[in-house]
Amino acid sequence: MLSNRSKLPKVGTTIFSVMSALANEYQAINLSQGFPNYSCNERLKNLVHEFIQKDYNQYAPMPGVLELRQALAQKIKKLYNTEIDIQEEITITAGGTQAIFTAINCSIKEGDEVIIFEPAYDCYAPAILLSGGIPKYIELEYPTYEINWKHVAKLINTRTKMIIINNPNNPATKILKREDLLMLEKLTSGTDIIILSDEVYEHLVYDKKTHESILKYPKLMERSFICYSFGKSYHVTGWKIGYCIAAAPLMREFRKAHQFNVFSVNTPIQYAIAAYMNESDDYLDLAKFYEEKRNYFLKGIGQSRFKPIACEGSYFQLLSYENISEEKDLDFAKRLTIENKIASIPLSSFYSKGTDHKVLRFCFAKTNDLLDKGLEILNKI
Ligand code: GLN
Repeated sequence: MLSNRSKLPKVGTTIFSVMSALANEYQAINLSQGFPNYSCNERLKNLVHEFIQKDYNQYAPMPGVLELRQALAQKIKKLYNTEIDIQEEITITAGGTQAIFTAINCSIKEGDEVIIFEPAYDCYAPAILLSGGIPKYIELEYPTYEINWKHVAKLINTRTKMIIINNPNNPATKILKREDLLMLEKLTSGTDIIILSDEVYEHLVYDKKTHESILKYPKLMERSFICYSFGKSYHVTGWKIGYCIAAAPLMREFRKAHQFNVFSVNTPIQYAIAAYMNESDDYLDLAKFYEEKRNYFLKGIGQSRFKPIACEGSYFQLLSYENISEEKDLDFAKRLTIENKIASIPLSSFYSKGTDHKVLRFCFAKTNDLLDKGLEILNKI
């Protein structure tokens, strides 16, 4: 049977699709999949229209439109004081997930071990498996979701070829500190381990903390793929556009795979984002905007029986329901969707062993009226 030849026998449909579909079916408030329910900037929309009208409608260069790579290099210089070679070190991708998939596929071979931290964003392990690699899982400490570097040091061996970090972390909602990055530098120095850093929430860091991008660590940069998403920074998750930054030798390998997978990315949107970036740096306001949303949600949940787990970054607030039910998190999340009409994401979906701390993830990237409706439901549970 053809199905016996599955390369991903244990993989089903992503929890995001499952919960969003269930939310739609039962007309529940959908705080599951992470996407804003408000518009992006009008000027950005008009720019896309303009570039379509001006007939920027054919293939873009394989690594991406030069103007966009230029605008990104300027942003990186401004934010992280790092020089990026726009010819060799940036490639525009069809979203963060594709950047991650390609980075893994161009560098992981049969039998290579890749360390990932759980809860892990769900696209990492399947990409590793499809390239013949072996995911090696380390659970983040619960409930701080910190990395225990002693465990990492123990797991590293000559087969270790990649370590994937996600900062700010989705779904754990924590950020990495300078000490974490220095530890990563120490443990990988002198090895051939590649770092894959998923930084799609780079601007969503709260409480005046700073984003410790790999871009600030030259020694780590030499060995890293760093993946970003315009979707998160401009409220346009459906545009599926992002980028990857890597040192030239790694980026050469990345492009070998990228050119035969995606070839190039949506042309008018690339021009539009480039033009928009030259006019505006409104991504700098995102932290404040989302911190207010997080605080609004937290305040609203204050009197409920749910227990919040501190959120340092990303679109999400984790809530423990250990005082409410003994049910498995997936069952509880489904029941809340069907019976109470509010959808969330159960955290066990992000663990290979299905570890269940009775935690659900709620997306607060929503208008306050939708959050109010969700909070009203949650406060009655
Ligand atoms: N990044 C989004 C989330 O965490 C989901 C994206 C997707 O559905 N693949 O909810």
